[in-house]
Amino acid sequence: MYIILITGCCLAYFSFSRLLYEGETLSTDPTDLNQLQLNVLLYCKANAWVHIDAIAAAKEVFPELAKQQDWKLTISDDPTLFTTHQLEKYDVLVWSNVTGRTLDDDQRAAFKDYIETGGGFVGIHGTGDNSHDWDWYYDELIRAVFSHHPMEPQFQVGTLTRECPSNFKACESLPSQWEWEEEWYVFEESPRNKGAAIIYTLDETNIVMHADSKGTEKHKDKGMGDDHPIVWFNCVGEGKAFYSALGHKGTYYHDPVHQKLLIKAIEWAGDHNQKCN
Ligand SMILES: [Zn+2]
Repeated sequence: MYIILITGCCLAYFSFSRLLYEGETLSTDPTDLNQLQLNVLLYCKANAWVHIDAIAAAKEVFPELAKQQDWKLTISDDPTLFTTHQLEKYDVLVWSNVTGRTLDDDQRAAFKDYIETGGGFVGIHGTGDNSHDWDWYYDELIRAVFSHHPMEPQFQVGTLTRECPSNFKACESLPSQWEWEEEWYVFEESPRNKGAAIIYTLDETNIVMHADSKGTEKHKDKGMGDDHPIVWFNCVGEGKAFYSALGHKGTYYHDPVHQKLLIKAIEWAGDHNQKCN
């Protein structure tokens, strides 16, 4: 059963009629008492690069995942939701391709406090880029600073290899190796060096890392070498923050393995019985 709440203005630049509504709450009948009945906020506001297809796909797919998993889901790109009072009802905040500065100082303080006092966070792809202009966000929440992604070509198939931190129980249910096409994000330094628990790393062997044509100001051709994390998590105060650099294209959100990763990430972030450390 869908309950549609119209709480914000139109996203006029999207052509998908579904996205004419901001703030959707999906309620489902409990069908599996063993599942976590999480209250999840999907937030996709993009003030820098807009992943139009990926954001549309996430807003299409997340209600299906919520129905399967018996989550209560709110979809909203309204930053005024980021108050202490409103955030406290959510188990997990999913930021899917959130870019640029989307929160004002008070909203940032409420978000930071929510995380540090035990909230759950799952960041997807563009959410980990370098457009956020927020030291705490890079240093504590994501623990990596985006450098670039390859452009020659932009999308390449790579192999992901799983690591299983002991404090991420669902890890064994994810593939140990995984062939995936992506716009591969390169970070200035491995988040492992800042204490992140790594779940997937990218084998760079066959990936061309050029970001732009040689001789231009934007030219970057470095990779991250033997330690190129793509999916990881961090303990932030009492809270839990999961980040996956996967998810540029809209089609990726319909992939069952990618969906499974997102489900397990949200369950981990929202399960208060599963400690981070
Ligand atoms: Zn992208």
